[in-house]
Amino acid sequence: MSATRVLVLNSGSSSVKYQLLDMRDSSRLAAGLVERIGEETSRLRHTPLASGGETRESLGPVADHEAALKAVAEELSRDGLGLDSPELAAIGHRVVHGGRTFTEPTVIDDTVLAEIERLIPLAPLHNPANLTGIRTARALRPDLPQVAVFDTAFHTTMPESAARYAIDVATADEHRIRRYGFHGTSHAYVSRATARLLGKAPEDVNVIVLHLGNGASASAVRGGTCVDTSMGLTPLEGLVMGTRSGDIDPAVIFHLARVGGMSIDEIDTLLNKKSGLIGLCGDNDMREIRRRIDAGDEEAKLAFDIYIHRLKKYIGAYYAVLGRVDAIAFTAGVGENASEVREAAVAGLETLGLAVDGALNAVRGDEPRLVSPADARVKVAVVPTDEELEIATQAYALVKK
Ligand code: ADP
Repeated sequence: MSATRVLVLNSGSSSVKYQLLDMRDSSRLAAGLVERIGEETSRLRHTPLASGGETRESLGPVADHEAALKAVAEELSRDGLGLDSPELAAIGHRVVHGGRTFTEPTVIDDTVLAEIERLIPLAPLHNPANLTGIRTARALRPDLPQVAVFDTAFHTTMPESAARYAIDVATADEHRIRRYGFHGTSHAYVSRATARLLGKAPEDVNVIVLHLGNGASASAVRGGTCVDTSMGLTPLEGLVMGTRSGDIDPAVIFHLARVGGMSIDEIDTLLNKKSGLIGLCGDNDMREIRRRIDAGDEEAKLAFDIYIHRLKKYIGAYYAVLGRVDAIAFTAGVGENASEVREAAVAGLETLGLAVDGALNAVRGDEPRLVSPADARVKVAVVPTDEELEIATQAYALVKK
């Protein structure tokens, strides 16, 4: 029997998320998470989906990523899904930054590892953790193909006019400063799923994808190819997010340093961790913000309005970039669940052919669906993202014999 399973690993600085999929039918065999690696209070949660078993949780110190992956391997073995199985075809790794080098998923060898390492200055928090995950997995199964799937890859098709900042070219080139974009795996998956929902080929469809999770980004996708996206050199640019400011006058940073006496690290923390919705109203969960608005909370209402205002600006901007828009797709935690965000984001845009149908928009579900009126010129879609499936699909396509 040929190998059809793919293990997807998403290694963060103190966590490892994983899913084991069977690519014959894209089914999920197991999924889990190791959190707080390196602390006394580490936790592993493992759900054996194939057998329909209960989620198992184990607490206690997990020293490092190697220990974490070994613990994951043991849990999988208990379900007869061990990493030593001949049915395992590949391990797919989410890698945050592929720079301009990696435009496609790539089978990992020493040269690829060295290049991901060279890109660390562009993603100092993420790439080192991703590398640790890859090295550990390679040590466990040296014979198995390991595939890197990059968050930036889908955006490498952006034209220079969208990818470059209007700053001194020599300085930009020396420091590799340009707009890379992130969440690319999700934007790729959702733009294709949206075309499918419309019954068309991706080449024939122009889509604005709004990935609204705790991190959030928008992209303009023309005929399956990304032509613009809202995140830039780092994930800080663009939409208002859970804890990030998104777009801001860069001079705010000079002002905070010169007049506010803040250090660069303090400003970094302020804009990445203490801004966005949490900075504006103290909450970053849209459910809680909704509850507060319903209770008459003005601060939460203003945070929501600022979030929507920015979102609307990007819809307008990407409408102009694309010229013709066939659909707007909402995805991720907020995009898939918060009907009030979808409604507010397109409110007043009827002249652009955009509207939601109140009844359709209120329906909850896990399947891709249209929430615009039947005769709408531009379709509004809710398309649940599935980054793990996309990583597994891309990895499997590279290694299957
Ligand atoms: P990330 O992967 O960026 O951590 P997710 O895509 O899981 O984020 O989205 C998380 C966010 O989704 C939460 O912070 C919350 O604001 C929002 N969210 C999740 N469920 C709901 C819901 N039922 N209604 C409204 N918002 C929701």
